[in-house]
Amino acid sequence: MPLNSRSTRSLLHSVDFEYTPQRFTVYTARDLDRISQLDQLSAELRHEMKVVSSVLPFRVNDYVLSELIDWQRVPDDPIFQLTFPQRGMLSDVHYNRMDMALRSGMEKQGVRALANEIRAELNPHPAGQLDRNIPRDADGEPIQGLQHKYKETVLFFPSQGQTCHSYCTFCFRWAQFIGNKALRMATTGAERLYDYLRLHPEVTDLLVTGGDPMVMKSRQLKSYLEPLLHPEFSHIQTIRIGSKALTFWPQRFISDDDADELIELLHHLVLAGKHVAFMAHYNHWRELDTDIARAAIRRIRDTGAEIRSQGPLLAKINDNPDDWAKLWNEQVKLGIVPYYMFVERDTGARRYFEVPLYKAWRIYRDAMKQVSGLGRTARGPSMSAGPGKVEVQGVTEVNGERVFVLRFIQARDHDLVQKPFFARYDEKATWFDQLQPVQGQELPFAEALN
Ligand SMILES: *Cc1c(COP(=O)(O)O)cnc(C)c1O
Ligand code: SF4
Repeated sequence: MPLNSRSTRSLLHSVDFEYTPQRFTVYTARDLDRISQLDQLSAELRHEMKVVSSVLPFRVNDYVLSELIDWQRVPDDPIFQLTFPQRGMLSDVHYNRMDMALRSGMEKQGVRALANEIRAELNPHPAGQLDRNIPRDADGEPIQGLQHKYKETVLFFPSQGQTCHSYCTFCFRWAQFIGNKALRMATTGAERLYDYLRLHPEVTDLLVTGGDPMVMKSRQLKSYLEPLLHPEFSHIQTIRIGSKALTFWPQRFISDDDADELIELLHHLVLAGKHVAFMAHYNHWRELDTDIARAAIRRIRDTGAEIRSQGPLLAKINDNPDDWAKLWNEQVKLGIVPYYMFVERDTGARRYFEVPLYKAWRIYRDAMKQVSGLGRTARGPSMSAGPGKVEVQGVTEVNGERVFVLRFIQARDHDLVQKPFFARYDEKATWFDQLQPVQGQELPFAEALN
């Protein structure tokens, strides 16, 4: 289908925002000394960052540094915690080993070997992602770069999208960023994706994810997505794009060289009858608070694409109801549909960010009380785990015993979807595998855990 030139032209004029194009400048672990904003911090704190960033991925760009982080509030600032390595993100044992190595002036190769050793002790691929959900082609060969866990949705990891404009300190995908090929999930060509989708008419949603697919050139993204407009893919109703670029680099939609081409592509997909859902990752209302972020949101919405928001609940970043209520209210105001509140998964710096389930539910509930029905579309707190997405629905009493009420929002076993079940109330539990059954009932995922 040809592009509708009139509506495209009006879209291109829809940048209702005065901007000076900003060059994308990125800083990684070896550039820590070049980040001038860090000069105000103590030498000790800066050393801690070096130790931690030798193990966990670190990457931040100028926009995050100059517009998102409030340096008056550092180190407590939520966006600083979101992007900068902190001492508590490693266990004492791991921290001390790397600290000693660096202080002793160990050469690069040794540091790298030690970092890999420590990383191997963290859990880079929770919920058996690497092996359990990889689909197979007609010959039974595994297809790298795809994941098919829930009947209707296929995840696609284009190889050019396996990085992000900045890294989140809690990211469970960190193994993909540290260059360990064996731990990486990515695909090179799209032919096998198309072959797979042809064989699977039950798939309605394709979720393009990463890393962040928005680090790709518009031209690349177009070459992946436009073929889906062919009638043989009419079963693909929805194209979802998982991204944090609206936070980390909204310039991608406004002033990057190929921003217009991207906007045209989204519009083209919408005109051709696809539901385009931009799955925006948000943790804090501050991410919505710059003019360019708002302009980017308007511009995406003008294409006819929807923006839905999801993000984890994290200690030190957003573990209070007021921030969530403000996040969801602002999103509704901007036309974004709140979608999921996640519980942080069992990986990497988890102890640093972990919030007990009972507290997560309280935060969710107290935030919900402060938003209108349009903000209550966010489901959660939800744990993405082996058997599915488990939501904590609440706390109540059954036969005099205090219990969590839970349900599967999504499940590998379709029959479990939306069935409520109970687990013993436990203020220490932070993840579903720590939950105990109530008397006389089994947890529905008991066998899936084995
Ligand atoms: C969350 C998730 C999806 C999408 O589930 P929805 O509930 O439809 O948003 C698909 N695949 C995996 C592996 C997921 O974790
Ligand atoms: S943007 Fe997403 S994939 Fe990238 S570091 Fe953050 S959480 Fe991970």
